[in-house]
Amino acid sequence: MNINFSFKCKTCNEITNARVGLSNRDVQPFKFSCQSCGSPIELNLTQTSFESINGAEVLEETLEFDEKTSFVDLHLDFPVSFAKYQMGLTPFMRAIQRIGFENYAAHNHRLNALNQLYRLSPELRQIINQYSKNIELFSRLCESKFGVKVKSTSPQDINAALYMVIAKVFFAFAMPNDNAEAVEKYSKITMQLSEKNKNALDNFIKEIIDTGFLKNIQEDCLEIYPKLLEAELPMRPALFLDFDANYQKELVAFRVSTDDFQMYKDLYKDISEIMSRQLVLVAGINNLIHRGNHNEFKEIGKHTPASLHDYADVAFGLKISFLDDSWYVIDDGVADNQLRNSIAHYKAEYDDITQLITYFPRKEGIKQEKSEQMYFIDFMRKILISYREMHRLHQLIKCLFNYYFFIYKK
Ligand SMILES: [Zn+2]
Repeated sequence: MNINFSFKCKTCNEITNARVGLSNRDVQPFKFSCQSCGSPIELNLTQTSFESINGAEVLEETLEFDEKTSFVDLHLDFPVSFAKYQMGLTPFMRAIQRIGFENYAAHNHRLNALNQLYRLSPELRQIINQYSKNIELFSRLCESKFGVKVKSTSPQDINAALYMVIAKVFFAFAMPNDNAEAVEKYSKITMQLSEKNKNALDNFIKEIIDTGFLKNIQEDCLEIYPKLLEAELPMRPALFLDFDANYQKELVAFRVSTDDFQMYKDLYKDISEIMSRQLVLVAGINNLIHRGNHNEFKEIGKHTPASLHDYADVAFGLKISFLDDSWYVIDDGVADNQLRNSIAHYKAEYDDITQLITYFPRKEGIKQEKSEQMYFIDFMRKILISYREMHRLHQLIKCLFNYYFFIYKK
């Protein structure tokens, strides 16, 4: 269903026509900018009623939707065009045209899950907070909130419950089979390594357990999940792009109908930093596979890390270059060092009207001339893809813990 109305910006008095496509979510908070002055406008709807508008007032009479009047198309579930009004070509219709009905059904299936799951984000936060503190409370929450029974207070059963809860909540953000394939691969590799040289593998496990590295990085990963669930609204159009074969062929402007770039900069930065540390585990295993010692990197000159400990301090962008013939391949788009550095060093600007992010990746002193651009939706897509890589590597952490619980000789 769509509703059409006209509103007047409270800041500049510009009149805009709006067409809002409704989602199946109970509460629908839209955020966008006045196309004339850029002031933020917030619109709150439910599936059946108009709740409130901030930054603008709705006109009693809806004006004619013509070429002259400013226009916004809005829908929470899809990328939305910035194009001029065309009767009948609603966000929903445009979305169907891009991906077809079958894919739409798959997208909709995940959205329906999110419509329920988003409410559980406080409970998820509690579970993650209690995981390392209060086992009894943790177990009670797992069972009462997510229907996951914790078999015993042993670390392996606590871990199993934790990962069951995560799997239940976050399938909506995943590609089908992604995790099962990752886990199978990790189990196979650890088995092979343990058959070939169990001592070497155990030395690696000993180091990452004794130093607290594995535990710390697990805790850092866990902090991302509630944040991702809370980003569920602007993630919806990014999830849609899983099905859009034409995406990435060209830079097309799509609107995200809620929130903005500033709110998610830190999430992207945090995920990137975690991935950078997760690579330490990938490198340790890579060294075991090729040289039978987790500390031994392929000799490539004076910058070769002397140990895994050394490698941990190597910059993210360089880390991949020390993974010779790697058993684990990281998606090209994930390690976007330029974007990450620009965001980390405040060299990124955001245009609220066009949703275009301009960032300055090169070191150029104060001039900041050479820039790169992407839309907010592309940025949310980056977060999603990075999250998936982080999540996939988090499964490795789970597998290494399981190796420690069940196979490692203490
Ligand atoms: Zn305005």
